Amino acid sequence: MIHENPHIPDGAVIQGIKAQTYDTTTYTLSFRDPAVRDRYRFVPGQFNMMTLFGIGEAPISMSSDPTCQESFDHTVRAVGSVTRALTRMGVGDVVGLRGPFGNQWPVKEAEGKDILIVAGGIGLAPLRPFIMHVFASRPRYGKLEIFYGARTPSDLLFTDEFAAWQSQPGTRMLFSVDKVPEGGVWDRTVGVVTVLFEEMQTRPGGAVALICGPEVMMKFAAFSAMGAGFAPEQIYLSLERRMQCGVCLCGHCQIGSKYVCKDGPVFNYDEIKQVFGPGM
Ligand SMILES: Cc1cc2nc3c(=O)[nH]c(=O)nc-3n(C[C@H](O)[C@H](O)[C@H](O)COP(=O)(O)OP(=O)(O)OC[C@H]3O[C@@H](n4cnc5c(N)ncnc54)[C@H](O)[C@@H]3O)c2cc1C
Repeated sequence: MIHENPHIPDGAVIQGIKAQTYDTTTYTLSFRDPAVRDRYRFVPGQFNMMTLFGIGEAPISMSSDPTCQESFDHTVRAVGSVTRALTRMGVGDVVGLRGPFGNQWPVKEAEGKDILIVAGGIGLAPLRPFIMHVFASRPRYGKLEIFYGARTPSDLLFTDEFAAWQSQPGTRMLFSVDKVPEGGVWDRTVGVVTVLFEEMQTRPGGAVALICGPEVMMKFAAFSAMGAGFAPEQIYLSLERRMQCGVCLCGHCQIGSKYVCKDGPVFNYDEIKQVFGPGM
């Protein structure tokens, strides 16, 4: 945490803006105060509470390489008051940030193992720091297989990076879209992301699966992973819940005895399977 008081936001300057899709943008940010900038570190899977002064606050995951210390990225889909107001900001404007909050993807647990990543839509953003970490520490991890699905081809994020990702040793990426609009060009799979399990090469024994996307997608991806041989303890997901404080005070993100802001957002499937109900 940057401050002893986790409720105080620090000013961060927007240094770069990159459109990913028609509704999703990556903002590169750097803390205004050099002391805060030097202190700030995050691990893959964590998030900040982003404040737009006079408008509100929203939890947003870091989407960049966690080893880059000067700046970091937030990839944001404009859906509501804070995220839409962000689209009206420009380079040089200042937002407030509190964080980093939450736990991390199973960086340690995955060491020495093959990894299956299943991402849906904007769910690839919180997974990107983990993917960057695996690429930076390649010998410590086994094979990496990524299934990435989106509603349409124009909803895929980070498309300009996929060639580089796929050229990394031991890396395989498969894509699917739910539908291709009339006149659209798409020569990969059409269907929900779970259809890609039919082509899975990851051997579940000793592997881990990381899943992030809309809750219904995570439910069926977890079911598919278990159908393919993953045990519940080998599956990790990142949950989204409405939250205000980020530090277990407001109770908005509570699930049973767990708080998404502090015990999560990354959970082992076995810990939170009640969220997804019966099915397997
Ligand atoms: C840990 C975590 C990480 C996240 N990371 C990202 C990320 O990297 N990128 C990203 O784009 N998003 C991310 N989100 C989601 C993001 O925080 C939400 O979309 C947030 O609500 C956006 O805030 P807003 O003010 O723009 O939207 P809001 O005004 O909160 O509206 C968002 C949507 O929720 C609906 N809504 C509003 N109020 C309520 C209510 N009381 N109950 C139910 N629905 C309501 C609205 O109609 C709208 O559809 C993350 C969420 C969590 C919990």
